[in-house]
Amino acid sequence: MNPNVEHLECSLEGRIYPADRAWRLSEAGRPLLVRYRLDAIRSSVDRDRIAARAGGFWKWRELLPPGDFERVPRLGESDTPLIDLGGGLQVKDEGRLPTGSFKARGLALAVAMAREFGLDKLCLPSNGNAGAALAAYATRAGMRSLVYCPADTPRINIDETRLCGAEVVEVDGYIDDCGKLLAERAAAEGWFDVSTLKEPYRLEGKKTMGLELAAQFGWCLPEAIFYPTGGGTGLIGMWKAFAELRELGWIDGPLPKMFAVQADGCAPMVRAWEAGEEFAARWESASTCAAGIRVPQAVGDFLILRAVRESGGRAVAVSEHEIKTSWQALAREQGVLMCPEGAATHAAWQRMVADGVLQAGSRALLFNCATGLKYPLPI
Ligand SMILES: *Cc1c(COP(=O)(O)O)cnc(C)c1O
Repeated sequence: MNPNVEHLECSLEGRIYPADRAWRLSEAGRPLLVRYRLDAIRSSVDRDRIAARAGGFWKWRELLPPGDFERVPRLGESDTPLIDLGGGLQVKDEGRLPTGSFKARGLALAVAMAREFGLDKLCLPSNGNAGAALAAYATRAGMRSLVYCPADTPRINIDETRLCGAEVVEVDGYIDDCGKLLAERAAAEGWFDVSTLKEPYRLEGKKTMGLELAAQFGWCLPEAIFYPTGGGTGLIGMWKAFAELRELGWIDGPLPKMFAVQADGCAPMVRAWEAGEEFAARWESASTCAAGIRVPQAVGDFLILRAVRESGGRAVAVSEHEIKTSWQALAREQGVLMCPEGAATHAAWQRMVADGVLQAGSRALLFNCATGLKYPLPI
């Protein structure tokens, strides 16, 4: 464990947990957050020296939990590029990461920490990309992996996950159904469940998106960030990154408005945001081509809603037609092949500009979270 880590904290109740052992959820059944000795980091670490390092997300080691960076699993991580789409709009292309999606960030950290704690059997439920990233990093670290996924997960993800060494079980149901079935087997057979936000370290991996963005934007963040929200780990992680950076005094200016983007066919956060609720009820009969955001219920719901509200952003749902239109337009007109989840953020940005929520020309950032090549392409 990195000596900069002070302790873990329950995200709902604030109770403190020692960081020296493997935890899953807090006793309140909610995510645990890693807290750092930011005062010590502020006085001993230079932001520009970190930013200049190679190694992609592993470069942020002072703000990450592993104690031994010689032993973390590596697959050639690098910073992901910003692509300029014109009119103040940029896209961060996370499809360049190992396994082709930003799930690499979180799973690399979860696997590294599990190994530090002496665990060797990891499992999770997945809509595709998380399973693939777990399989690759677990295999890299010499550990076993087990993935439960909905039977209609994109075929390429299932095949990739198996090929990279995981046992894959296909389930007739949604990702939360997979999670319930998997929990029974995990308990019986001793698998450690690294479901998103149900252990503390995937969030720290996704946090690196916020750190990397701050450095790429010259420590002055864009006005708006559009994030395709399933479990919300990336959105919560970036918001945590921005809070840490602000406390370190490393960023200037106001924080971005966070836009949680969902699909009309699965929009539990949008429904809760519109109703002013603190928690989000399960979305029944979820359906969208954007598999990564087909998440009916999220354990970090209140953290997503809190970040969106604190930032002055919104939760926005877009239609399948809007997703496909943006997907095709960006490819045809800009040569940028997004994943459907990424295309959803473009559709949401268009809507916010059209509705006057965001001024045309303001600096906005879209997340393309996976390579478009992993999906059945629209013809
Ligand atoms: C996992 C995933 C998402 C959702 O990410 P969260 O941080 O869990 O909300 C969006 N798009 C793709 C492609 C994904 O794999």
